[in-house]
Amino acid sequence: MHEMAITQSMFDLVLEHAKRAEATRVERINLVIGEMTGVVGDCIQFYLDFLSKGTVVEGAQLTVTMVPTRTRCRDCNRTFELKPFDWTCPDCDGKSLDVIAGSELFVESIEVE
Ligand SMILES: [Zn+2]
Repeated sequence: MHEMAITQSMFDLVLEHAKRAEATRVERINLVIGEMTGVVGDCIQFYLDFLSKGTVVEGAQLTVTMVPTRTRCRDCNRTFELKPFDWTCPDCDGKSLDVIAGSELFVESIEVE
């Protein structure tokens, strides 16, 4: 259900942009998804195909760029890629971590005709 709501708002945004650009067809949607969001690109494509029927977005291909989860240790300031379910700093074993990447979710660009 998570992806359905996300796809709906993404679709609205893309449609609005396409209209403004007076596009006859949206060919590609470039999406950035942070690993931490747990959003699956294939699910988005599935809902998009469903939502876009009969609109200029119909048939648009989704290109997903995944962003790995990165955190910064509050104790030693080291930044590192987070392993799943392991919220510990590899340097100092600190457990106070700030997420600095991986929670992104946005449309980077769209390609229209
Ligand atoms: Zn540390």
